[in-house]
Amino acid sequence: MKSGQATVVKNAGSHYLLSELPAWEVFPAVLRGKIRLKASEITNPIAVGDHVRYEADEDGCVITEILPRRNYVIRRSTNLSRQAHIIAANVDRAYVVVSLLFPEVKLPFLDRILVTCELYGIPATVVLSKTDLYRDEAAGQLARFKAIYEGAGYPVIETSVRTGEGIADIREACKGQVNLFSGESGVGKSSLIKALDPSLDPKIGAISLAHLQGKHTTSLYEMYPLASGGYVIDSPGIRGFGLVDVEKEEIARYFPEMLRASQDCRFTPCSHTHEPGCAVKAAVEDGRIAPERYNSYLGMLEEDKKFR
Ligand code: GDP
Ligand code: ZN
Repeated sequence: MKSGQATVVKNAGSHYLLSELPAWEVFPAVLRGKIRLKASEITNPIAVGDHVRYEADEDGCVITEILPRRNYVIRRSTNLSRQAHIIAANVDRAYVVVSLLFPEVKLPFLDRILVTCELYGIPATVVLSKTDLYRDEAAGQLARFKAIYEGAGYPVIETSVRTGEGIADIREACKGQVNLFSGESGVGKSSLIKALDPSLDPKIGAISLAHLQGKHTTSLYEMYPLASGGYVIDSPGIRGFGLVDVEKEEIARYFPEMLRASQDCRFTPCSHTHEPGCAVKAAVEDGRIAPERYNSYLGMLEEDKKFR
């Protein structure tokens, strides 16, 4: 009997595909019946990126144990049932793809995604796509965007699949890591992944999967190896990312620049709205914290009031 440790690279419905990374040698495995879901609201026991132990003999390969997750990305059903689905586990970095134009990014939307990444414990990079369309026309806006997000502590990579800008930088950053790519439809995420490795075509993959599996698809999430090194998980649609798990008092902790500044607030806890001696408000006033980010924070507090 052979046994070992491997990473889940795809949920293929009746079975999983595993590989012992960094080698890319994919083999099928089934889940042993006795592995039960610990949290009953989770609909899938194993997700792409999970590290598992397996045992193999002439009858096939069986997953015997799911190793503890370093982090995971979870999506709730929209219908307010308690059900949730783990999209990916053990992600080294999330690349959040946005464009300044076609479609124009809404900063509160981006900030919500970045807060979610912080909540999950996944370092995030902001990818500014399609720069060929606005590098000159919107130079001021581009500079401001970079200042806001680099100021908050996020790397910002400017890319264009037309000019090739930034592609080599992302390839380099992806090496040796599991990288989750997410972005609103139309931002150029598929084009970007294809530019990183022309042998990958996420659009075609997603369509054929949807066709084969219909609505109850469990396998839209798949890990691909990049020819240049590292792995990509393409995450279609990011709207399901929610703040359900975060208490209002905690939201500011997931804005890294606000967390840093809040050490000097006079009161603890401080909502950074009305309290005297609030170091976050002081930092917004003297420009160390971008007002755009602070406004996103206030918006999240408001929304929280509405829904709770
Ligand atoms: P996705 O929905 O995020 O996967 O977006 P796609 O990769 O399908 O791209 C959406 C549209 O934007 C397509 O018409 C692409 O040709 C276009 N596009 C993607 N990247 C770029 C870019 O870097 N520059 C320009 N000018 N257009 C781009
Ligand atoms: Zn404060």
